[in-house]
Amino acid sequence: MTDTTPPWSLASAAVYQAPDAATGAIAPPIHVSSSFQYDEAIYQEVVAGARETVNIYGRCGNPGERLFQDHLARVEGADAVLATASGMAAVTTTLFGLLKQGDHLVCDWTTYSSTHEFLAHRAPDFGIETTFVDMADAAAVRAALRPETKVLYFEAIANPTMKVVPIAPLAALAEERGLVLVCDNTFASPAVLRPLEHGVDLVIESASKFIGGHNDVIGGAIALRAGRLPADFLERLRWNTMVKWGAPIAPFSAWLLDRGLQTLPLRVERQCENAAGLAAFLEAHPAVERVCYPGLPSHPQHEIAKAQMPRFGAMLAFDVGSEPRALAVVTALKLASFAASLGGVRTVTQIPGTMAFLDIPEAERARMGITPGMVRISAGIEALEDLQQDFAQALGVLGTGGGR
Ligand SMILES: *Cc1c(COP(=O)(O)O)cnc(C)c1O
Repeated sequence: MTDTTPPWSLASAAVYQAPDAATGAIAPPIHVSSSFQYDEAIYQEVVAGARETVNIYGRCGNPGERLFQDHLARVEGADAVLATASGMAAVTTTLFGLLKQGDHLVCDWTTYSSTHEFLAHRAPDFGIETTFVDMADAAAVRAALRPETKVLYFEAIANPTMKVVPIAPLAALAEERGLVLVCDNTFASPAVLRPLEHGVDLVIESASKFIGGHNDVIGGAIALRAGRLPADFLERLRWNTMVKWGAPIAPFSAWLLDRGLQTLPLRVERQCENAAGLAAFLEAHPAVERVCYPGLPSHPQHEIAKAQMPRFGAMLAFDVGSEPRALAVVTALKLASFAASLGGVRTVTQIPGTMAFLDIPEAERARMGITPGMVRISAGIEALEDLQQDFAQALGVLGTGGGR
């Protein structure tokens, strides 16, 4: 990190930016140049091995990327952050950086669909094997360990059941067995959970979601807590893996994410309030069979969520019994959108069983707790009463029969 600041609260860390050294601008500039001119001093620095701080070529790093990385490191409470072209670039860079042929990892069976498909169907081509278990069950994780196990991988809040995994037992196991504990924190965001404070080694964020916050940018990040991993782990990961695969973040994307970060705590606070309000409203609605929200006492990990996270998140799901009924509801919404992705200021709905998880066999989907009538909601920052009215009128198209 080039910028050292005091340990501010999240809201202040999110807003703070050092002024631009060249101009004094308090909003950061965007450097679109793909190449940077050497002078003799820079040449000597590069020859001596400096790569993190010297501008060489766009794929190897750019000034805006470093600004975003330092900014996010303060927000995550991280020792370092590496920005990537997308959330999936963060996932694959991390896994290929940590694992080699013959290695094994244990992963929760509910993860982002592309992560699951990558581990189940692509990583085996490189000799990397995964055992999928329920990582809320510490005994199941322990039973899955092999001598060649290197990594434990889970999501802070898992899509679309909003399962919450207790982190402390996994951190203890990682410490005991010398494993690397990786958490995809996308569904929570650092405004809801900072997994590094709970003993996680690497946090993955799809910054396309809450960090960007406006559905207008794709990007990702990896955040490090040094300890089980060396302090220069991300520097080496950048050079050995990310730069070689060509997955750097573009200057304008880094700039948008840096801007989004400033309002992250404010947005997410409102989004969590709206999610809680929608969850309570939906749970009381006669046409809704089940609501998945960690803030509801009916959620299987409600007590864990309460102990682990200051907020319950902005993501929820509800079940109306069948896919046609789910489709009827989401297409009747007027204020909320029916669209992919999550985390933005607009409320967005999706039918996970037949959208994000379409390529995953039905038996696996069922094991993940995904039912055909599920609707997922990413709560935005609209007025809660307008959202409740919108869902009330949309559920009204199902008639008064209730249930199936
Ligand atoms: C969206 C998402 C990703 C992938 O991020 P992209 O930015 O779309 O590549 C990874 N993990 C989770 C949990 C996600 O929601």
